[in-house]
Amino acid sequence: MAATVLNVIVAKNRQLGTNEYYSYQSGRDCCSAAAAPYNHHRNLLPFHGGKTLLAWRSGISSMHLPKYQTAFVKRPSIYYCNAALSTTAVPYIDKVDFMKLQNGSDIRGVAVPGVEGEPVTLTEPVTEAIAAAFSAWLSEKKKVDASKPLKVSVGHDSRISAQVLQDAVSRGIASAGLDVVQYGLASTPAMFNSTLTEDEAFLCPVDGAIMITASHLPYNRNGFKFFTNAGGLGKADIKNILERAVDIYNSFTDEGLMKSKREASESLKRVDYMTVYTSDLVKAVRKAAGNIEKPLEGFHVVVDAGNGAGGFFAEKVLQPLGANTSGSQFLEPDGMFPNHIPNPEDKTAMKAITQAVLENKADLGIIFDTDVDRSAAVDSTGREFNRNRLIALMSAIVLEEVRSSYFCCLK
Ligand SMILES: [Zn+2]
Repeated sequence: MAATVLNVIVAKNRQLGTNEYYSYQSGRDCCSAAAAPYNHHRNLLPFHGGKTLLAWRSGISSMHLPKYQTAFVKRPSIYYCNAALSTTAVPYIDKVDFMKLQNGSDIRGVAVPGVEGEPVTLTEPVTEAIAAAFSAWLSEKKKVDASKPLKVSVGHDSRISAQVLQDAVSRGIASAGLDVVQYGLASTPAMFNSTLTEDEAFLCPVDGAIMITASHLPYNRNGFKFFTNAGGLGKADIKNILERAVDIYNSFTDEGLMKSKREASESLKRVDYMTVYTSDLVKAVRKAAGNIEKPLEGFHVVVDAGNGAGGFFAEKVLQPLGANTSGSQFLEPDGMFPNHIPNPEDKTAMKAITQAVLENKADLGIIFDTDVDRSAAVDSTGREFNRNRLIALMSAIVLEEVRSSYFCCLK
């Protein structure tokens, strides 16, 4: 077993994912065109940030779930392939078992078609309903002051369904009257951190955060993790959100869905939050190391991001701290995970990082899972660090309070 650590910043309330297969069958595969405007799943590259603030907005802040409380449109339970298609058709609403999407304190489902026996469960309307449900839950929790809409940040890992789901999540949030701040490619710890960061220029702190990820699961899966400044949501909260989502989903109307599309495009903001997050991380390590600008000078660290979201760690965290990161691999996001599964508990993945460390004669190797909330490390001899030493290492990286120099003890 690899020495895996659940990155401490999100350790509480999180549960390691398990493979869960869903047997839901939509019953209208032959008529997928009837799902327009939701049939445009494509392989889109995730938003990688790049500009500090690409913001535009207009006021939609006075809306609080109005459309979901209006007409209930019950669709026939049988669709025929020769049925007249409408670009505003309400998606099939009868057979979604929302409760099966719960996986502990996460939501998980199938987001990409094409794998036999694994029909898509995380459709765009399902996603929109879940995001609207989270928004309603959050509004209740935070006892909203109507003059100031709550803000929810949305980020995603490198999966090929990321962009489509990010758009659907944004529509769900906007339709509930909350502000949406998209981060694009992000890590799970960063999403939680966005509820704590004090930086108005980057619209922080946000009131809630949604990470779109299925962690280490195969490319066709995806899911959601939710955060407030109190941490990750627990099982009971997720159940509550899914129950709300059922009602919202069943109340969808053609007009409502089109309206939420408009609202999202009008109210959306994009922020390169990972720049703030990584520079804060770098500052924290410098401080912890006794205010040394480059505490990792002369230290060679190889990173393996497995084509997940963790590639930033080499260039944006380790290099500014003085580390040599040459030999780092699979840093480019690729949602098909062509090299190995981004999972520190996977044997092939651990072999890849071990080899990279030995070939590059590095001092340390770090491997992340897809959304960067789990990692493992190997030392210069290719030995995996045991859990305690690794937790000590990660704690030192993310916790400002840790004052002692930690890399000296790894040598
Ligand atoms: Zn993960």
